[in-house]
Amino acid sequence: MTTQPARLTVLAGPTAVGKGTVSADIRARYPQVWLSVSMTTRAPRPGEVDGLHYHFVSSERFDEMAERGELLEWAVVHGRNRYGTPRGPVVERLAAGEPALLEIDLQGARQVRASMPDARFVFLAPPSWDELVRRLVGRGTEGAEERERRLATARVELAAEAEFDHVVVNDDVHRATDELVRLMGIVV
Ligand code: 5GP
Repeated sequence: MTTQPARLTVLAGPTAVGKGTVSADIRARYPQVWLSVSMTTRAPRPGEVDGLHYHFVSSERFDEMAERGELLEWAVVHGRNRYGTPRGPVVERLAAGEPALLEIDLQGARQVRASMPDARFVFLAPPSWDELVRRLVGRGTEGAEERERRLATARVELAAEAEFDHVVVNDDVHRATDELVRLMGIVV
């Protein structure tokens, strides 16, 4: 495993693998890690804070940002809402020579790879397919139809593992987070 410093690290992985949980763990245990706050057109879930978990915006505002080139990448996720990374804060961070972390979907990761091939791409993988299904059902944030849609996406996304520079298995959230932070070259 390398611990070479990476300026930009992109974390992606299938739905329900625990990317959000890893992000929350980073915010809680590694406040020194700069994590991009995405724009989204989806509505906030209970407990989500605007500007912390996401910037919750209207479709019109999202379109405006995309048209102006203010998003580093963006994608329609699960055939529904749009999500994107504001370009400005990431560029500023990198220009200052400081590492940055994006937690985005696979489509977004591919866009970043095309524009910033030097970034480090990390795939967060479930311990098994059964465990992924169990987590998606267990979190209970989606109805049956949405769950099926997300599982279909996840099945395709799992096959993309080979495109990534590193694979981190999310068997235990603290362990996975520690591994990710080490991959970023951040000394802990
Ligand atoms: P959720 O709605 O559950 O918070 O997130 C749904 C999906 O959107 C997750 O797979 C998450 O990684 C992805 N996502 C969050 N922010 C971004 C972003 O800025 N760009 C892209 N492409 N995907 C994102």
